[in-house]
Amino acid sequence: MSTETILILGGSFAGMSAAHYALMHIIPQLPKKDGITYNVTVVNPSKDFYWRIAGPRVIASKELMPYNKLFYPIEPAFAYAKDKFTFVQGKATHVDSAGQTVSVESVSGEQKNIPYAALVIATGFSTPTPLFTQTTDRAALEATYDAFHTQLKHAKTVVIGGAGPVGVEAAGEISEFLNGKPGFMASAPKNPKAKVTVISAEKKMLPVLRESISKQAEKFLKRVGADVVYNTKVVSATKASEAEDAKTTVQLSDGKTIEADIYIDATGTRPNTNFLPKEWLDNRNRVSCNAKTLRVEAAGPRVYVVGDCGSYTRGGVMDQYDAIPVAMTNLRTDLVAHLSGQTPGPDRHYEANLKEQQLVPIGSSKGVGAANGMALPSVMVWGIKGRDYLIGMLVEGHMNGKTYEKEGKWKPQPVVAAGQLGTSRG
Ligand SMILES: Cc1cc2nc3c(=O)[nH]c(=O)nc-3n(C[C@H](O)[C@H](O)[C@H](O)COP(=O)(O)OP(=O)(O)OC[C@H]3O[C@@H](n4cnc5c(N)ncnc54)[C@H](O)[C@@H]3O)c2cc1C
Repeated sequence: MSTETILILGGSFAGMSAAHYALMHIIPQLPKKDGITYNVTVVNPSKDFYWRIAGPRVIASKELMPYNKLFYPIEPAFAYAKDKFTFVQGKATHVDSAGQTVSVESVSGEQKNIPYAALVIATGFSTPTPLFTQTTDRAALEATYDAFHTQLKHAKTVVIGGAGPVGVEAAGEISEFLNGKPGFMASAPKNPKAKVTVISAEKKMLPVLRESISKQAEKFLKRVGADVVYNTKVVSATKASEAEDAKTTVQLSDGKTIEADIYIDATGTRPNTNFLPKEWLDNRNRVSCNAKTLRVEAAGPRVYVVGDCGSYTRGGVMDQYDAIPVAMTNLRTDLVAHLSGQTPGPDRHYEANLKEQQLVPIGSSKGVGAANGMALPSVMVWGIKGRDYLIGMLVEGHMNGKTYEKEGKWKPQPVVAAGQLGTSRG
């Protein structure tokens, strides 16, 4: 008896989606052979999936965003396919593509090698602030939040480096929490308790959205007592000591410094790819792949990337709805051909949706954004996202896999010669 494994590294938005897709649409279509069973294995450092999208609200207060809305156990979500699913709590430390195995370190420090028939890399990214990244288990991130809440209560000066959606959402939530909700017509709080400043490296905030939307975001931030400084970078942020309540000196590129009770670094993200060979990565350390087929061509046969660690995407969960079916359909095509010895079927292609699209709540009742190139009114941003950071709308479908219940329509694309589009077949 042998087992052929579809191995998925990372168990977050992309990894869990890939696993559901594999169990629903790949395993049932693999050739039935005596003595061979099929398995989907997910490797992830935490037993719990983390709804990172709600991070900006939970850092303000766990009364506003309780921890039990943020974390969801991974393994029970696959109970419907128990005999075909394995969860490994640990971290991939090395991939041997020649031997088609991945070395994994478990939480208790044990090493093991997991062989794969097909490999999906979905290890995402880490944020420079520990506030929006689950590196180990749920308890560790909750402890980080508890410590942050204690500090926040007494904060008079808060600086947020970075004016992308994470920085703007964090500023809105924190300012409203500290300074209160302004009156209906008020343009700023009467007696703000804290000075909150967002540092924007560019002349506008929210790079994906047009300037007028960025201006609207600035107004909403002002309403809750947050200011924006434009065309300025954070040069350094130095904490006076290890003590939790120690101040941070934030040095700005215009020569000014701010003594902050709290500094949040929201200046970007770092792909979790340092366990992979350098030749597989692009110049931003993302996994370099064929932008149409999502095969990692440098990695040998049957290796794919999905989610924010991939070179094909500008990131975001919505983009995964287009990418997961593509990568997983191509994986199935390649795996069927490999196991049956038949010629591979046609490829499925990914098309990036590059329309202006982003929703940015600012505090609990306002927000800015656009969908499919159209600006949305604040009340719609609130209705879709600001109410609960998409938990009611998306968590269930993500956890139980219903989001990918249907394969979706696609136009078969010819398999092109090696070196042109999809080369890593087999
Ligand atoms: C505060 C915040 C708010 C956001 N809001 C939105 C939003 O409203 N809408 C939206 O579309 N996007 C939003 N995003 C972006 C969204 O979170 C990402 O698009 C999403 O997390 C990417 O999913 P992923 O599965 O590719 O990667 P991740 O979510 O980063 O998950 C990667 C997983 O892999 C694990 N991992 C890391 N290294 C290893 C390893 N070596 N071995 C095994 N596992 C490993 C990690 O622990 C993690 O569980 C937000 C991001 C942040 C930070």
